[in-house]
Amino acid sequence: MEKVVIIGSGPAGLTAAIYSARAMHAPVLITGTVPGGQLTQTSDIENYPGFENPMNGFDLMTTFRKQAERFGAKVIDDTVKSVELKNGGPHKVILAGGETFECTALIVATGAIPRWLGLEAEKRLIGKGVSACATCDAAFFRNLDVAVIGGGDTAMEEAIFLAKFASSVTVIHRRDKLRASKIMADRAMNNKKIKFLWDTVVTDILGEKQVEGLKLKNARTGQDSEMKCAGYFAALGHLPVTDILKGKLELDELGYIKIKGGSTYTSVEGVFAAGDCADHTYRQAVTAAGMGCRASIDAERWLESLESKN
Ligand code: NDP
Repeated sequence: MEKVVIIGSGPAGLTAAIYSARAMHAPVLITGTVPGGQLTQTSDIENYPGFENPMNGFDLMTTFRKQAERFGAKVIDDTVKSVELKNGGPHKVILAGGETFECTALIVATGAIPRWLGLEAEKRLIGKGVSACATCDAAFFRNLDVAVIGGGDTAMEEAIFLAKFASSVTVIHRRDKLRASKIMADRAMNNKKIKFLWDTVVTDILGEKQVEGLKLKNARTGQDSEMKCAGYFAALGHLPVTDILKGKLELDELGYIKIKGGSTYTSVEGVFAAGDCADHTYRQAVTAAGMGCRASIDAERWLESLESKN
């Protein structure tokens, strides 16, 4: 029986592993399908504190992992097939590779994935003009024309942030009415650098090695057109990676794990959540890492409370 098992190897999971390992809980961490999480898909990270120069996402997460392993965390490159949760534990974590772990405390840090349109070019040109995170990548588009796809609050937020750097931002929305809140929509509409293309869908991204433009279709008239731009920002919402938890843990209407108050406690005693799977507001590496630290401390104090009861 393990004291602590952690699911997920982004900043939240690996920070939880560093803290749990230093607390002598010898945590077992299951990496998931993308070891290192979303950050490994980003090229340069300039806003993670502690690094004067840009840090490659993959290198940063490799450092997180080595740091956790140095303190005794056992990192397993596998995905979780299913979990069996019990109030107060023990919980079972069943891996795709066949191994099963039983643990008293479980920290879920499974992250979220951006929603994409599903175009082949989105995959091919990611990091080469295609992004789903303006906060991460806007500074690379100084004095360039960029497009933001979507009509929700994220799209408005991304467009407003991008407008600080880019020479123009075109928000491309499939309808003629925004989903975004009025305050965010007003802010974007009052920004002189931001323009809107209504009733328009992106059918392809142009460019072989770098984004050069977009192929568009008017959803009402069916008319095709093209526009030039150097950046394509998908702001189509995020999908929390919580499928294995459905029906086992309380999730909100968007599928994010519900946490209690300002803690990382979930609806099942002994199960804690950290990072993007439980936070759709901030979604930053540093906030996820901070939440991973909090989950580990919450788990540690909860384990101590169990020991003092026995
Ligand atoms: P939303 O789900 O609210 O918006 C996603 C947008 O993407 C919608 O406009 C939707 O179009 C569009 N979209 C989705 N799929 C497609 C597709 N296949 N093709 C074309 N367009 C598509 O996600 P957000 O990330 O914007 O927001 C998520 C939550 O987070 C919301 O509750 C939001 O209020 C909140 N949030 C709050 C912020 C703040 O208050 N500062 C900032 C960011 C998010 P359509 O409208 O037609 O469905």
